[in-house]
Amino acid sequence: MVTKRDFYEVLEIERTADPNEIKSAYRKLARKYHPDVNPNDPSAEDRFKEVQAAYEVLSDDSKRQVYDRYGHEAPGGFPGAGGGPGFSGGFGDIFDIFFNGAQGGGRGGRGGPQRGADMQYNLEVSLEEAFSGVEKQIRVPRVETCDTCKGNGAAPGTTPETCTVCGGQGQVRHTQNTILGTFQTMAPCSRCNGRGKVVKTPCPECQGQGRIRRTRDLTISVPAGVDNDMQMPLKGEGEAGLLGGPSGDLYVEFHVKPHPLFERRGRDLFTEVPISFTQAALGDEITITTVGGDSGAVTVPEGTQTGTIFRLRGQGMPDVLRGSAQRGDLNVAVKVEIPTKLDDEEKKLLRQLAALRGEKAAHEPKGFFERVKEAVLGHDE
Ligand SMILES: [Zn+2]
Ligand SMILES: [Zn+2]
Repeated sequence: MVTKRDFYEVLEIERTADPNEIKSAYRKLARKYHPDVNPNDPSAEDRFKEVQAAYEVLSDDSKRQVYDRYGHEAPGGFPGAGGGPGFSGGFGDIFDIFFNGAQGGGRGGRGGPQRGADMQYNLEVSLEEAFSGVEKQIRVPRVETCDTCKGNGAAPGTTPETCTVCGGQGQVRHTQNTILGTFQTMAPCSRCNGRGKVVKTPCPECQGQGRIRRTRDLTISVPAGVDNDMQMPLKGEGEAGLLGGPSGDLYVEFHVKPHPLFERRGRDLFTEVPISFTQAALGDEITITTVGGDSGAVTVPEGTQTGTIFRLRGQGMPDVLRGSAQRGDLNVAVKVEIPTKLDDEEKKLLRQLAALRGEKAAHEPKGFFERVKEAVLGHDE
């Protein structure tokens, strides 16, 4: 058997994590690696099983104590990814594990309706789209309730019968002895796959599964001002429930692509605009194109130093909760460009200027570089 990874490492948590941290780490990773969310990635399935196994142990105080003391070598072993009882029959819905599996017993038992799994969709938007808000079409592969049998898996005109192995309970009890005592684990009945009912004549549409995999097109209204890692829950747009249970939710997580001209910090935007050294010395009015495509005017006063920031109030990103009425600022940093190619006439004029100002002769390299350094580094506000 392959060496097992440390359970804490698997859940990406500290050894001191409290039950809430363990649970939220588990939820996050289970959503990320759930096989339904990663239909084309077989390695996700392994990660998912590993995460389930780690959670089963760390979420149970007594099992966790044993694990902390003995690691994977615990006498009696641990259920989970190694093929013990607990997760033998396929994946089950993520919420099985929250409400029925690891927490023991719980609502309604097996066999009855079960809520469908939550899903996560990562949606990438440009900074312009995040600025104005946008409607996006996405394609979500998910499991939906079969229309033909309305989810019970039986062919039209027939009904499912009660399972004789588990007596309709949907689960069977496994007993396990460890040094801390006897644990009882409930595992889904393998005859009926935890449904408590057996279908004699399967529905031809879904082969008796009651659910069917479909790719669904959804329109997402991306709110203006959306930022990285914000999530939008879409109620009931996750996977279909089992036996009439409610559907899970779909969490759309936003990722805003970096922009070549604008950098974002919260609601504020930052950009850099080159100006010539004569514009910096004499002053000028320059025009900026904002993310939203408007033009903003910046008055550069006489004697402006490189790195000076001009703030265009209310030209930044909208507030995602309060909308475009509440926008951040656009901060424009000017960068004074020192000309690199001067012809003889220009050089002559600059030397005359230097002489007029009583500066040292401009062909002295050291003096020139020092002034450049001063111009670049000396002013950062
Ligand atoms: Zn069906
Ligand atoms: Zn059964």
